[in-house]
Amino acid sequence: MAEETIFSKIIRREIPADIVFQDDRVTAFRDIAPQAPTHILIIPNKLIPTVNDVTEADEATLGHMITVAAKIAKQEGIDESGYRLIMNCNKDAGQVVFHIHMHLVGGRNLGRLVE
Ligand code: AMP
Repeated sequence: MAEETIFSKIIRREIPADIVFQDDRVTAFRDIAPQAPTHILIIPNKLIPTVNDVTEADEATLGHMITVAAKIAKQEGIDESGYRLIMNCNKDAGQVVFHIHMHLVGGRNLGRLVE
């Protein structure tokens, strides 16, 4: 069994978070240490520790995370200016919370990720 992280407590609203969207499959909330004017984390309500643990059964939920991200980007007014969706996996990517999450980052020019 995977160990719960602080994100499970946010999903259950046991600790405070600035939740911008929640339904039966995903929760989205503002990152506590924003790297850009908009920095929101979109997570599955089901605990999946890393992208390596995603299975075919999770595909609908992961697709839903992207449609929710696009809706939030529109609400934030950054859908036309642009934004980046990032999922970090394990050490070399700097993953620190082992409950998969998609970073939605935008509201400024983010530069090119790869030159
Ligand atoms: P990662 O490096 O991809 O694992 O990113 C984890 C992210 O979670 C970081 O951007 C943190 O700032 C963010 N984070 C950690 N704890 C909280 C929290 N309680 N509420 C909101 N964001 C958090």
